[in-house]
Amino acid sequence: MKRTIVCGAGGFIGGHLVKRLKREGYWVRGVDIKEHEYAPTAADEFLLLDLRKLGNCEAALALGPGDPPEIYQLAADMGGMGFIHYAECEVMRHNVLINLNMTHAAAAARVARYFYSSSACVYRDMAPGEPEMPEEGAYPAMPHNEYGWEKLYSERVLLAYARRHGMTARIARFQNCYGPEGTWDGGREKAPAALCRKIAEAEDGGTIDVWGDGTAVRSYTYVDDMVDGILRLMRSDLEGAVNIGCPEYVTVDELAAAIARVAGKKISIRHVEGPVGVQSRNFANDRIYSTGWQSAFPLARGLALTYPWIEAQVRASRGK
Ligand code: NAD
Repeated sequence: MKRTIVCGAGGFIGGHLVKRLKREGYWVRGVDIKEHEYAPTAADEFLLLDLRKLGNCEAALALGPGDPPEIYQLAADMGGMGFIHYAECEVMRHNVLINLNMTHAAAAARVARYFYSSSACVYRDMAPGEPEMPEEGAYPAMPHNEYGWEKLYSERVLLAYARRHGMTARIARFQNCYGPEGTWDGGREKAPAALCRKIAEAEDGGTIDVWGDGTAVRSYTYVDDMVDGILRLMRSDLEGAVNIGCPEYVTVDELAAAIARVAGKKISIRHVEGPVGVQSRNFANDRIYSTGWQSAFPLARGLALTYPWIEAQVRASRGK
């Protein structure tokens, strides 16, 4: 049985990736600093390790005799725009430690293939209506936030180690990802989960607060699409960074309206001050399309699968 390691397996995308790898017949070791909050792990083995420490990265990769391991590195100290904004020092320090140590340990352990989850935050801000940004548009670099700078640096660390040690590196730049079993409250949640929660908490005919003026343009990728993109990229021969994202772009207000439709509620929006991030996004997906990947979950379909899960969490938390 092929063995694989998923770092960040106690998190949102990592948890879904483990389930998919198990369905495909892999033996999976999950690694995280914490257990998954919303679902029991599907991994065969789950190691609780702080990957900021080199010795723990080495332990995460030690599999004994057999094929050199392949690794999916999704562990990161991260959250939505609010968290990235107020915890910028922790985001830069913790994530650079995780990625430097894990890349170094992987090269020493002769890891064959290394997947790294980078982000669309490596790109500069865009104006609405700008032509699609290809991957090379990340340079000259001007990420909008420190989270993006760390991701760009860690991409480069991995590429350097891959060059020197003959390790195959696959780097995805994820757009916003959403779906069930992701953080939905507590301050680290991202816009789709936060809006689902606010709408679940609101009465029919009620009002929710939305940070900014509601015009920021984004695309949102359902987690099953993201996991499918991760696996296709990992198994491809695509060198360098690859964008993965649903090509459906909406404003924040349109996202809120789409969630309200799924909820069957009439909701008004009050725009309040808060960290918004970039004004607009529009990315080229040609590289990931070349693997045969297509988004199978338009926003309405993905929200129809996500909202009921968050609504159930809200109801359960009220019953506590
Ligand atoms: P998540 O926060 O749900 O998962 C990340 C996991 O990393 C968490 O379970 C966390 O406990 C773990 N972690 C943090 N510090 C650690 C440490 N020191 N040692 C071991 N584990 C540690 O986030 P996610 O949404 O699943 O994101 C996964 C990856 O994808 C991250 O690298 C993230 O930056 C990237 N990404 C996510 C999105 C998105 O929209 N969700 C977008 C772009 C990029």
